[in-house]
Amino acid sequence: MFRENGIRVGKVFGIPIILQPSIIFLIPFYAWLLWGEVVDVTNDHSVFAILCVLATTGLSFGSVLGHEIGHALMARVHGIKTHLISLNLLGGITLTESDVKRPSQELLIAAAGPAVSLLLAGVFGGLLYVTSGWAAPVVEVCLKSLAVLNVILGLFNLLFFGFPLDGGYVTRSTIWGLTGNYLIATRIASAIGVFLGAAIGGLGGVLLVMGNLGGLFYMVLGPVLMGMARRSQQGSAQEFAFNTLRVRDLMRPVQAVVPSHISVRDVVRHFVTQLHGDQFPVVRGSELLGYISADEIAALEKSRWDRMSAESITRPYPVENFLTPGSSLRVAYARLVETGLSVLPVLEGMQLCGFVSLRDLQRRLGGNGRGGGFPA
Ligand SMILES: [Zn+2]
Repeated sequence: MFRENGIRVGKVFGIPIILQPSIIFLIPFYAWLLWGEVVDVTNDHSVFAILCVLATTGLSFGSVLGHEIGHALMARVHGIKTHLISLNLLGGITLTESDVKRPSQELLIAAAGPAVSLLLAGVFGGLLYVTSGWAAPVVEVCLKSLAVLNVILGLFNLLFFGFPLDGGYVTRSTIWGLTGNYLIATRIASAIGVFLGAAIGGLGGVLLVMGNLGGLFYMVLGPVLMGMARRSQQGSAQEFAFNTLRVRDLMRPVQAVVPSHISVRDVVRHFVTQLHGDQFPVVRGSELLGYISADEIAALEKSRWDRMSAESITRPYPVENFLTPGSSLRVAYARLVETGLSVLPVLEGMQLCGFVSLRDLQRRLGGNGRGGGFPA
């Protein structure tokens, strides 16, 4: 079953789990690295050692999954549904249904993943302590690697205090809670993410120059984090614009209106071919009669264009779908989609004061929708 660019491996707490191709390649690589370490430290080539390495590989990916499930279950506590958990090279992404409403919710959901990781680090560290001295050395190596992995998962996600990692969401929710300003909090968390991503990339470059090939990993990771930090900001800014900008911020003044008495041929000559729109409002004096659509004109026989008036093919706007200058862009978008119209009139009282077009709205909001997420 291939979906969402990966393999769906089942559900945990009712949430579909997707393995991305990158992590599918990483699993045998991880097992091979761990095997190398086991052989180095213990010189143990037994079947038991192989089984320990395989079990530890499984538990390592279980740890990453546990981190993501921490986010998802905390989101569920706050009434936010999780669409899926997608495991990739950077850990995972928990895609949630809707954005959080309050800073405290965001803080708790962001912190829940690292909290699970640090808890698991404590469990594996505790087992290492309890078994030390009597368990086989291979067990010690495996438990140690599990404890270290979970410490890294917990601390790296928290200490990277910019988008797109958990620490960035902790930063945003904290600043959001303190200032009440979601947009500024988002910008700060994103800027920190871009800066830290650049620092990691730069550090990788320094390591490489010093002859450490591991630097290459950081040189790739840094720019990836920078790009994700920027995209997180764009998504949040779009959501914010949707909720806070008003129709008056986007409205076009009344200019291209069709007088009701002109012929359809004149509508084509002066409006459809000149302005390249597909719907034009029709007025009689200052009264808005409705709209005329280019599709409807195209469906008419051309021989009738001279005889028919614009008014005769004018359709009324659905009354309940008028917008006011104070309507939010979210409302404007919903009405445009509901009616299937490309342009809607804006009325103040009964006075026509402008128009909002779907094209302007999409340009302002930057296209498609998005899902909220808590990466890694
Ligand atoms: Zn996380």
